[in-house]
Amino acid sequence: MHDSIKPTRQHVTILGATGTIGINTLDVISQHPERFSIFALTANNNVNSMFSLCQQFKPKFAVMLNESSAHALLAQLKAIGSDTEVLHGEAALCEVSAHVEVNIVMAAIVGAAGLHPAMAAAQAGKRVLLANKETLVMAGNLFMQAVEQGGATLLPIDSEHNAIFQVMPQEKQPTLSAMGVKRVLLTASGGPFRNASLDELKVVTRTQALNHPNWVMGPKITIDSATMMNKGLEVIEAHWLFNAHPSQIEVVVHPQSVIHSMVEYIDGSVLAQLGNPDMRTPIAYGLGYPERLQSGVSSLDLILTARLDFCAPKLTHFPCLRIAYEALNAGGTAPAILNAANEVAVEAFLEDKIGFMDIPNIIEAVLTSSDIKPVASIKQLVAVDEEARQQASIQLNRLCTRS
Ligand code: NAD
Ligand code: MG
Repeated sequence: MHDSIKPTRQHVTILGATGTIGINTLDVISQHPERFSIFALTANNNVNSMFSLCQQFKPKFAVMLNESSAHALLAQLKAIGSDTEVLHGEAALCEVSAHVEVNIVMAAIVGAAGLHPAMAAAQAGKRVLLANKETLVMAGNLFMQAVEQGGATLLPIDSEHNAIFQVMPQEKQPTLSAMGVKRVLLTASGGPFRNASLDELKVVTRTQALNHPNWVMGPKITIDSATMMNKGLEVIEAHWLFNAHPSQIEVVVHPQSVIHSMVEYIDGSVLAQLGNPDMRTPIAYGLGYPERLQSGVSSLDLILTARLDFCAPKLTHFPCLRIAYEALNAGGTAPAILNAANEVAVEAFLEDKIGFMDIPNIIEAVLTSSDIKPVASIKQLVAVDEEARQQASIQLNRLCTRS
């Protein structure tokens, strides 16, 4: 490339830098040092990982969730003479997302904890690379409004939504049918229990559930994939991202995870995006858009892949997917309640407190006992989230005292 047309470096904040998506993002960024520099890295409480990332990427800011982790990180950084400033707390997460010097925010915190910083990035008009699907599940309408009002550029990172984004017409229209789109087809691997019987599902262990066949991911989304709640959350995510009616979103089980999703047009054409299951592809797409960047992902070997299989999801075995469709159809605060109850149930399963099939039971019980209201504000959604967590804990205690 000619010297005078070198692009200026983009300043990036990575929310959830120590997680699976965070580390993959840093991997892609480190392949393009001339294009990107790290403005801020954030993490929950993993001081040692954060310390080594700060050594390597020299961010202007490092943000830990709590004060004691921030103190511990600062002590380690001072000892090596680092210039990185250490902050803590949710307000600091929002600050480094909305900071005037930032161009790109990778929103890769797991769960509802990612909502406020993702909103802050959207309101500040950043390029938002959205991995944190829970933001759209909880507050899809308000988040999409913030993107529009803030003048942000939203790029979906979830592999399915990134695939759909890639094969949708680039000229936006108010409805899918105005773009000639009939429906979107979300592919699902089916997770580790795709062929399990109902009796087998009742006794699966945490270790079995954490063993995803195709993707390496954080623990919460790995359990969500095993219950297929992940696909349920992704149906809700697709609804908000692509303005798709629930009846226009179909889930197709595709065990090889080679087709990342598809768009069907009214003329019968079905466009798909394919590739190896490696999150660096959608991450590189988001970072470079509309340009394509090297990602380090190896070429898809179709001869080696040999076959692509498809089947319908079994809602009897994976009730979380059904419950998510129901919450989307109910609308209002129902998806936020679903999300909160799911987070509590998954955490309890990861702590070996409940069985695998208790997860959908808890979520359904919480939804049934909750009043669904129209969404009014983020403040209201935070209260709804808190109330649903309390209800889920009550359900959890009932189960634990019974067993
Ligand atoms: P992970 O558990 O590996 O990492 C989560 C990150 O968030 C860590 O850096 C952690 O320190 C931080 N974090 C956790 N709790 C926090 C809190 N309360 N406040 C601030 N920071 C906190 O998760 P992941 O697999 O990287 O997933 C991140 C998000 O991306 C999730 O929303 C997930 O659904 C989505 N996603 C992940 C994948 C994947 O392949 N891993 C694919 C699609 C979407
Ligand atoms: Mg996905």
